[in-house]
Amino acid sequence: MYGVIEGTGFEVIDPSFADCLIDHARVERLWTGARWAEGPAWLPAGRYLVFSDIPNNRMMRWDETDGSVSVFRAPSNYSNGNTTDAHGRLVTCEHLTRRVARTNHDGSIQVLADLFDGKRLNSPNDVVVRSDGSIWFTDPTYGILIDYEGARAESEIGACHVYRIDPETGEVSVVADDYIKPNGLAFSPDERLLYIADTGKSHDPDGPAHIRRHAVLDDGTLAVGEVIADCTNGLFDGFRLDRDGRIWTSAADGVHCLDPAGRLLGKVLIPETVANVCFGGARLNRLFICGTTSLYSVYLAVNGAR
Ligand code: MG
Repeated sequence: MYGVIEGTGFEVIDPSFADCLIDHARVERLWTGARWAEGPAWLPAGRYLVFSDIPNNRMMRWDETDGSVSVFRAPSNYSNGNTTDAHGRLVTCEHLTRRVARTNHDGSIQVLADLFDGKRLNSPNDVVVRSDGSIWFTDPTYGILIDYEGARAESEIGACHVYRIDPETGEVSVVADDYIKPNGLAFSPDERLLYIADTGKSHDPDGPAHIRRHAVLDDGTLAVGEVIADCTNGLFDGFRLDRDGRIWTSAADGVHCLDPAGRLLGKVLIPETVANVCFGGARLNRLFICGTTSLYSVYLAVNGAR
């Protein structure tokens, strides 16, 4: 249907990566027309994908049933990362309103976090929900640095932290305060580990471009993280894990697949910088890839973690 897209393909670095691929499956470009595509989330009940087009201040919807793409929400408050909770509700990071919000089943939008310690958040970037209902998000300054992806403003908090929203009380607490620009994050399949990317290199050549791994402690806090991988091409922005614990992460030349210890196994090559990915389809065996102007996908021989 889509043919072979120039600049796409696969790079096998460790032989085990070949087991993740389907011989004849190719990368497809599903749609183009974004300025900076980000934050894909799969909505299983509706069989559609929601993703953000940040500078265009809109969220898009790709429909699996007919392949059409339409505007899901505009204005979107310069939304960035999206995910779904255990009830299938959309949870969204918004730059302009500097908050994390949930879209309820009746369509109402409920603010989950916009302040910490009485100060406005910077610009929530990416978000994940644990099966206990806690919501974890990163809060770098990308949405307040310039007017392109939000509105320029001073940071009230003066730092970029990772936060957890308590499922019972709604209280927002800091779970990591030693990041420069915390960005993508995802749990291991058993949810005992949290991986977090730091894209501090975006504004400092000596800054980090890595993913750290933290143990999640029983009281809902994180152990000190250890760096498991430095990005070999660009930055690790958003990422997701498959059922076997491999990390499928964005990078400048496509999607890098890392083993659970951070070793680079191979790449899905994309001709644009990739910002984020997610698994979708009924069996979560299709990887959706937000690559700057375009939405791509590829079927894999692995399944995303639930
Ligand atoms: Mg991000």
